[in-house]
Amino acid sequence: MGSDALEDVRFVGYRRKLIEDIRARGINDLGTLQLFDRVPRHLFLPEGVRPRAYEDGPIPIGFGQTASQPSLQAHYLTILEPQSHEKVLEIGTGCGYLTALLCLLADRVYSVERVRELSQRSRRALDTFGVKNAALLVGDGTIGWRKYAPFDVTVVSAASPSIPSALVDQLAVGGRMLIPVGALDTQELVLVRKTGTEVTEEVLSGEVKFVPLLGRFAWGDEGSG
Ligand code: SAH
Repeated sequence: MGSDALEDVRFVGYRRKLIEDIRARGINDLGTLQLFDRVPRHLFLPEGVRPRAYEDGPIPIGFGQTASQPSLQAHYLTILEPQSHEKVLEIGTGCGYLTALLCLLADRVYSVERVRELSQRSRRALDTFGVKNAALLVGDGTIGWRKYAPFDVTVVSAASPSIPSALVDQLAVGGRMLIPVGALDTQELVLVRKTGTEVTEEVLSGEVKFVPLLGRFAWGDEGSG
């Protein structure tokens, strides 16, 4: 605990720089920028890459996976606007950093990760950070998490060839979902909204590049894990 606190002091300046970098990417919402100031990203990263914790870029977190670029996550949050009474489903816990950001905004966050070690590491980091409203599950997020559905917000942090129907089914009326859809090398971000009986899909501008969503209703799961 003590060394984490010391490390935090050392990282404060870098965190300020990260917030400037996020702002430079066009995120001007003060609440979102302040949110990134509240979460010590280095806590969520493996020791070896901690010096790079406040770079605005993807970072390897082991198991062939990468933590997403913070400014992209900031962009996600400004689109989805999770509210303090809302339930969030996150697919791809990864290092748990976005989970932590979501926990500060929403009532409860349900996060599914297929790699057990990453989920366990995220649990420890979230405990150290001190959030109590995250539930983590090791499993295939392409089937969602039916037990706690419906969700007001769904964030998919891995790329899928199509939108898994379970995730749409488990969206609440008034719900919003962001998911990268496309090929293995590049994708587009799709914003799905559920209003009453209607479901709309909007392709947002710009290409993104995420690691593949591996599971029953995405890229398949053979030989990995
Ligand atoms: N927001 C996370 C992103 C991690 S990368 C972060 O910044 O750390 C995407 C994650 O999705 C990886 O950890 C990968 O293991 C996980 N993943 C891939 N397919 C999945 C699936 N079907 N269900 C749950 N998690 C999955």
